[in-house]
Amino acid sequence: MSRLPPVVEASDWRWQLRHGVRSLAGLEAALELTEDERRGARAAETAGFPIAITPYYLGLIDPRDPACPIRRQVVPRASELQQVPGDLRDPLGEEAHEVAPELVQRYPDRALLLVSDRCAVYCRFCTRSRMVGGGGGPRSLERLGPAFEYLRAHPEVSDVIISGGDPLTMTTERLVRIVEELRSIPHVETLRLATRVPVVLPQRITEELLEALRPHHPLWVMTHFNHPRELTEESRAALRRLADAGFPVMNHSVLLRGVNDDAATLAALFRGLVRERARPYYLLQADPVRGTGHLRTSVAQGLALMEALQGRLSGIALPKYIIDAPGGVGKVPMTPDYVVRRAPGVTTLRTWRGVEVDYLDPPER
Ligand SMILES: *Cc1c(COP(=O)(O)O)cnc(C)c1O
Repeated sequence: MSRLPPVVEASDWRWQLRHGVRSLAGLEAALELTEDERRGARAAETAGFPIAITPYYLGLIDPRDPACPIRRQVVPRASELQQVPGDLRDPLGEEAHEVAPELVQRYPDRALLLVSDRCAVYCRFCTRSRMVGGGGGPRSLERLGPAFEYLRAHPEVSDVIISGGDPLTMTTERLVRIVEELRSIPHVETLRLATRVPVVLPQRITEELLEALRPHHPLWVMTHFNHPRELTEESRAALRRLADAGFPVMNHSVLLRGVNDDAATLAALFRGLVRERARPYYLLQADPVRGTGHLRTSVAQGLALMEALQGRLSGIALPKYIIDAPGGVGKVPMTPDYVVRRAPGVTTLRTWRGVEVDYLDPPER
């Protein structure tokens, strides 16, 4: 049998997963590494949080530029070994909010189901770096049984977020069985698939996958683009296939130092997403995960960026800026302050152009 030409192999998502770079040697072969990156990769090889980069995503990295925004997201640095004040192992208190194995509940009406510990790519700023890539792989239906039982017994939960790890790294068959189990719970109205696959493994968004999931709508796809360079022909085609198959696509971006912490980059990212019918949903302040101090920005900087974008970007392109509060006590929306003064019956506002204007309440009745 003759070998398939490489272009066909590279378009197969399983080939992409099997041929991911997972070691210092693999990085060394593809990129001109700095000593700092070499030290980071060596540590990642032995410590708990592994390296993984699909050949596709690796191809987006500038091999000569250590400041490349794609590279900063996935190539470890020695700074990962540093702890800074406020760093936490489990910043969102997920272990404390686990109501059944693999099920996290922090709001009355929503729950988060962790169906795998595996991702196509391990982002160095991962909120769940404490547990991903641990080797457990996709969770069996038996393992998830108590989570399903909990959901069945809690009619107030109407929205389940299927996350991990990345749920789209498992086989379609396995994923569909989980979705069917959730769909058999009458009060679960909305399902969300939280996945970075459209960004790092767009080949996975196949017709076969879409056909298998389509009967289970409403299924929202929560994806995770951080930089306009991630909007390639392949990933844009994946977004179009999702939208054409009726999946509302929402994007979370994480605000990252040296990756997307300037207004022009964010504006290009958000506009590019809207062009492909993906709604910029949240701009997340990076969680204080242990070893990510070098990738985080200040809150003041985040607010200044939001202020720079307000009024200059269409409302559908402007996400909410969110801090997921340490300890897992809830997401807090952050807005630049547009109220200059409050007096009885009069609110003095400042517009994005800096014009001050009074809004008068109606007379009291
Ligand atoms: C973020 C999160 C949600 C969903 O929040 P939304 O604001 O509805 O997108 C739900 N549960 C957990 C545990 C979360 O971390």
